[in-house]
Amino acid sequence: MKLVIIANRLPVKIEEKNNSYSIKRSEGGLATGLSSLDTSIEKFWVGWPGIYVDDKSLQKRITRRLHAMHFHPVFLSQEQIEKYYEGYSNSILWPLCHYFFSYIEYGSCFWEAYKEVNTLFCEESLPFIDENDIVWIQDYQLMLLPKKIRDHKPQANIGYFHHIPFPSFELFRVLPERKELLEGLLGADLIGLHTHDYMRHFISSLYRVLDLNCDLDEIKLQDRTVHVDAFPMGINYQKYHDAALLPAVRKESAELKKKLGNQTIILSVDRLDYSKGILNRIKGFAQFLENHPEYREKVSLAMIVTPSRDNVERYADLKTRIDQTIGQVNGKYATVGWTPIHYYYRSFDFEGLSAMYDVADIALVTPLRDGMNLVAKEYLASKREKPGVLILSEMAGAAIELTDAIIINPMDANEIENAILQAITMSEHEKKERLWRMQKTISNQTVQKWANDFVKELSYIKKQNEEIYQKIIDKKQLAQIKRQYDRSSHRLLVLDYDGTLAPFYKKPEEAAPSPILLSLLEKMAKDPANHVVINSGRSSEMLEKWFGDLPIDLSAEHSALYKENGEWHENFKKIEQWDSEILDIIQRTIEKTPNSWLEIKNTALVWHYRKADTWLANLREEQLVRALIEPCTRLNLQIVPGNKILEIKPSAFNKGTEIKRRMQKEKFDFVLVIGDDTTDEDMFRAIPSDGISIKVGDFSPIAKYRISLQSKVIPFLTKLIS
Ligand code: UDP
Repeated sequence: MKLVIIANRLPVKIEEKNNSYSIKRSEGGLATGLSSLDTSIEKFWVGWPGIYVDDKSLQKRITRRLHAMHFHPVFLSQEQIEKYYEGYSNSILWPLCHYFFSYIEYGSCFWEAYKEVNTLFCEESLPFIDENDIVWIQDYQLMLLPKKIRDHKPQANIGYFHHIPFPSFELFRVLPERKELLEGLLGADLIGLHTHDYMRHFISSLYRVLDLNCDLDEIKLQDRTVHVDAFPMGINYQKYHDAALLPAVRKESAELKKKLGNQTIILSVDRLDYSKGILNRIKGFAQFLENHPEYREKVSLAMIVTPSRDNVERYADLKTRIDQTIGQVNGKYATVGWTPIHYYYRSFDFEGLSAMYDVADIALVTPLRDGMNLVAKEYLASKREKPGVLILSEMAGAAIELTDAIIINPMDANEIENAILQAITMSEHEKKERLWRMQKTISNQTVQKWANDFVKELSYIKKQNEEIYQKIIDKKQLAQIKRQYDRSSHRLLVLDYDGTLAPFYKKPEEAAPSPILLSLLEKMAKDPANHVVINSGRSSEMLEKWFGDLPIDLSAEHSALYKENGEWHENFKKIEQWDSEILDIIQRTIEKTPNSWLEIKNTALVWHYRKADTWLANLREEQLVRALIEPCTRLNLQIVPGNKILEIKPSAFNKGTEIKRRMQKEKFDFVLVIGDDTTDEDMFRAIPSDGISIKVGDFSPIAKYRISLQSKVIPFLTKLIS
């Protein structure tokens, strides 16, 4: 087994000099996290190598060298990078996920290029994915890839991690391609996000865009379950914690201290990006200087801004505005011996950055939106004897874990001003206490643990899926069941109707049996060895209307009534008058849930919500259950959730009752039950241990076998009796 990581970028730096290429590994957070995984797991990366190479023979040469490092390059053209990476990924998905909706720039063919490159990544990856491998896809540039790989390898074990925020549905819905993107992601078995908030938004988008069934963190697809979970990404804690001990860092930090004198240093470190709230931060700091003149010449802000995409107009504009604003603040407040803002527009290496973390008394991290923010964690980890204070935006994913930071809303300059004052005046004891608690958190939740947790959960899901796949009836299992069927002479064949013999429709009355089904049932019933029963939650009237002419038996309303040898009987008396409190509660729910309605059967009440908004219906269902518990317990009624229905019925019987009754009367040498709903599990429980129970759709631990799709049930029965 190996782990195949597919990311937009390979963790390498390739440089060309006089037509020869040097290739070096570049250790990002992800690579560090993965390096700590169980060393027995072989790792293989697929990604863009970061350079343009047109010449095919050169591509081959580079590929050979990268393969030796366990990397496979996906070569992209300049146009592909422009439209897929700069275009769809960074001009549409990035601003959208960071709540900068108005910054979205639609360009011609962005979406086409995004699809094309995702397909290319799929084609390039497939030859390296073996049957037992784990595939881990990284980030928003490759949202279509999980499904593309799944289409080629239906049983692959695929994970996806979203490294940026996932926005609220109200924002996500504006994307014309929202459906394709979500369907693309659902090709994965496990979808990871940094925080439970992003998880919540993601699940709510699935509900609303795709109208899917979600059971907490599990999304039930027709033939698979997708898991969604929060995995907050951490850092290599020990590396940052020990950095201040390195001679190079000590030297640099001593020099910095000499240059900056006795001042309180506030540090900020970001890539040049509008999501980082750089201008808001300068504004907050300027307001602090304005309102607290006593701190002028005593406090400085050191701002590191790493160049990024400054060839793009929006970024170049941002850079100009930052330059101007810093100029204005320095122009207004600077004195001969003091510069309020030290501005570094360049990238620092690990030692340089660690020295900065070391000298900084306060870190001011104010993104307007940030998936996680690793700088905040690195700063805290770097602190040793001299504690530091973290001021952190509540809009950063890291704020969920780092609750001992001074949490601010970056839109509010007053909050930034007050936070700076609070940090400067905080007692040493409090600083240490807060730092210690946060260090404890981040030294536990490291990037190594993050990678381990994700891969462990993916492996666990793989095992679970294997069990699920094992139950699916394949050719061999079909042959085995058929052998048993052919050998037997007295068979009980019990079939659920909705979701088993017929698909679901928005209106239940539309789900009439197809001519193919009717002819199949007739054929089944013709064999004198067969005893065919349709066991449904439907009313006897409906079943009689659809199947009354067939020589089969029927069981209606979860076994309350049954038809045997052409005659209907009651297992349970019709309820003439339902409790008025229960009816009132349901009526109130219907009034507050458009497109939901009540069906009154002989022995049950059914609240139907298939046509209602999924989110609202789920909320109302919970409220309804809560309100019904007391009267239902008092009246010995059972509340049974079904497929987009909630049923209230006497607890004296269930779908297993009718099976038990028949088995007490007669001896069968072959018992088969098929059903799709949780209520059908009572049938599975009722049959003898050598009976055959088949669950349609998602997994049931009780059923012996599984048929993944409703549409496969009729073909299965046809083969069985042929
Ligand atoms: N970083 C760096 N040199 C710099 C500035 C930043 O190496 O001059 C690194 C920093 O150590 C951190 C990363 O860049 O690991 C920034 O990560 P973060 O999550 O804070 O922001 P992102 O840029 O990923 O949005």
